[in-house]
Amino acid sequence: MTKTADGDHADVLIVGAGQAGLQAALSLREEGFAGSIRLVGEEPMLPYQRPPLSKGFVQGTASADSLVLRPRSLLDELRVDIHCDARATAIDRARQELVLLDGRRLAYGHLVLATGSRARRWNGPGAELDGIMYLRSMTDAAALKERLGQACNVVVVGAGFIGLEFASVVAKAGLAVNVVEAADRPMARCVTPTMSALFRQWHEEAGIAMHFGARLAAIEGKAGQVAGVRLDDDRLLPADIVLIGIGGIANDELAAQAGLAVDSGVVVDELLLTEDPAISAIGDCASHPNVFAGARMRVESVQNAIDQGRTVAARLAGKPLPYRAVPWFWSDQGSLKLQMAGLVAQTDRLIEIGSRHERRFSLLAFRDGVFAGAETVNRPADNMLARRILAKPVPLGFAEAEAAGFDLKALAAAAPA
Ligand SMILES: Cc1cc2nc3c(=O)[nH]c(=O)nc-3n(C[C@H](O)[C@H](O)[C@H](O)COP(=O)(O)OP(=O)(O)OC[C@H]3O[C@@H](n4cnc5c(N)ncnc54)[C@H](O)[C@@H]3O)c2cc1C
Repeated sequence: MTKTADGDHADVLIVGAGQAGLQAALSLREEGFAGSIRLVGEEPMLPYQRPPLSKGFVQGTASADSLVLRPRSLLDELRVDIHCDARATAIDRARQELVLLDGRRLAYGHLVLATGSRARRWNGPGAELDGIMYLRSMTDAAALKERLGQACNVVVVGAGFIGLEFASVVAKAGLAVNVVEAADRPMARCVTPTMSALFRQWHEEAGIAMHFGARLAAIEGKAGQVAGVRLDDDRLLPADIVLIGIGGIANDELAAQAGLAVDSGVVVDELLLTEDPAISAIGDCASHPNVFAGARMRVESVQNAIDQGRTVAARLAGKPLPYRAVPWFWSDQGSLKLQMAGLVAQTDRLIEIGSRHERRFSLLAFRDGVFAGAETVNRPADNMLARRILAKPVPLGFAEAEAAGFDLKALAAAAPA
């Protein structure tokens, strides 16, 4: 019989009620785990999807309720004991207890850290001004949406995915928007230079002013309110809202304070286990050995959160398998659906299929003659096929992909899977 969390003890205690934490709980039940499961999260609401926050939610096409991942009734049915508004402050490893802000101590058989990441802050001049915004949580997004209604000039700092998604919404609403980026191209850490150049062109055509190689010197204000962004070449960009989108930092303090190894994220092995056999870490907060990168890394994506939630659940249900999921990601920027399969940024050769002019095409990216991933624009089927090919044990070579009559679909369908 499936157990309910008993008093202050749970067989599996998950801290962080986001995408990864919820997935671990759901997958434990799917795997037939009959022990007690408790999910503890600091946010006041049930676990929700973050991706729409910078897309439909700020735009007004997706409501807060529509973002909730599972209703409470289902969690009750599955006997997942969820505690919202409950912040964990410490782990007592010797007693296998999690300490909450209100002093409660929750005992665990196994603890899963799924605390996610937070937005990197601007700490330079003007950091205290009203109108400096971040976009990580529903609360952030609701505040941003409200202010957008009264804004004329928006500056986005950081041309990463979240910054560009938000800039696209702002431009569509007819407001003036400047994007400031220290690198020389958009999304530089994650996409190929070819894709960066196209997105730059398309965003500029949509009325977004882009400033590359540009550094923030200060955020300037008037009567405590944001008035503009000063760049290090002394240019002043007018602003009544400044969205800071300069990346995320892992919430790994609980682990660090408990004496576990952290390295810009909680250090786990390929089973997603920390050095303490009673503690795992998953999702945005976990620094894991990634076979596709050939290195340890932290990944901020829904795919990674879901697949790591599944991996840890399978292990706790007695089916240990290393984490080997193909990385994939999407970003909706205006009418452009960008999807990535594999890790494409550090690749050296490209094959293009489809039509750039119609904004429906894909780039197949190769590293050292081997298929490393695909970037697709408004061609979701290619993304699916690329993921299937990347999951195969035999890699796709450049010569094969370049040969006349090469068919992505046929190759993806061919054995071995
Ligand atoms: C605006 C935005 C847009 C995004 N768009 C995309 C996209 O288009 N595609 C994509 O693949 N990914 C996207 N992502 C990334 C994706 O949402 C994350 O990678 C995913 O949510 C990670 O899941 P997680 O469970 O690791 O972390 P989260 O979903 O962030 O959940 C972690 C939870 O832990 C809680 N927590 C932290 N510390 C404690 C504590 N001490 N005690 C209790 N609770 C705690 C946090 O408050 C949070 O609720 C986006 C993210 C954002 C913010």
